[in-house]
Amino acid sequence: MIDLDAYSDTTRELWRLMNPCTLCPRKCNVNRSEGQTGSCGIGEMPVVSSAGPHFGEESVLVGRGGSGTIFFAGCNLGCIFCQNYDISHLRHGRQVTIEKLAQSMLELQAYGCSNINFVTPTHVVPAIAAALETARKKGMSLPTVYNTGGYDSVETLKLLKGLIDIYMPDAKYADAEAADQLSAAPDYPEINFAAVKEMHRQVGDLQVEKGLATQGLLIRHLVLPNNLAGSVEVIDFLAGEISPHTTINVMAQYRPCYHADSYPEVNRRPSLDEITSARRYAKQKGLNVLD
Ligand code: SF4
Repeated sequence: MIDLDAYSDTTRELWRLMNPCTLCPRKCNVNRSEGQTGSCGIGEMPVVSSAGPHFGEESVLVGRGGSGTIFFAGCNLGCIFCQNYDISHLRHGRQVTIEKLAQSMLELQAYGCSNINFVTPTHVVPAIAAALETARKKGMSLPTVYNTGGYDSVETLKLLKGLIDIYMPDAKYADAEAADQLSAAPDYPEINFAAVKEMHRQVGDLQVEKGLATQGLLIRHLVLPNNLAGSVEVIDFLAGEISPHTTINVMAQYRPCYHADSYPEVNRRPSLDEITSARRYAKQKGLNVLD
């Protein structure tokens, strides 16, 4: 149990949203501070799988020292093809204190990382907010990256205003049936589109200085075989309802993992034509497509 009186109103409000837990759209209503867990499988304190400089992220996040990634175990989505299932579904990692999490951020900064990149943060934002407060008081000044599967509630996101500099959500699906079958989240499209709107409202289009992102929205869209990701609809939404200057990474690296072999439609890589079509369409719509 942490001493919440030592933290800001925002952090205390995030903690309150965890008891009973309505932090994310699952709204499990479990009391996580009493040891109960919901769909994400994580209690009050976060479980960290790894923390360190990462050079495989988008080049605007990497720079010379890498992106300072902190991978959180557990996830509020149930993607049957998850490439990190040992972290998200099997929840491999170690539980950390707020002080330890803050210390990790300071160490990543001292190492020379370009930012602090919270990977799969949605279900542990109370601890992230508390640790950020602590780290910033001790001199942590790097931009923060919210690297999310994109199933986030607007109410929670509003509390992150000022804490997060770069939002990097997935936009996984535009179709409820695909979202239900592949990620157990039939409301993903409407939730995701509302979340992306709130993120853009807070930070705007992606700003890049000397090759490094400093603030803004960066969308990740993983092309799935058989158009299950609804690439055209996702791109139309971004161009029409977010900004024609939205930065997007149209990702080609899908490969069948975890339980994907039980679903014939996703049990193959997307074809070159499927990938290039999605990229071409995003460019036609004027989006800033990362190479
Ligand atoms: S954060 Fe976890 S426990 Fe809370 S509502 Fe979401 S899935 Fe459920």
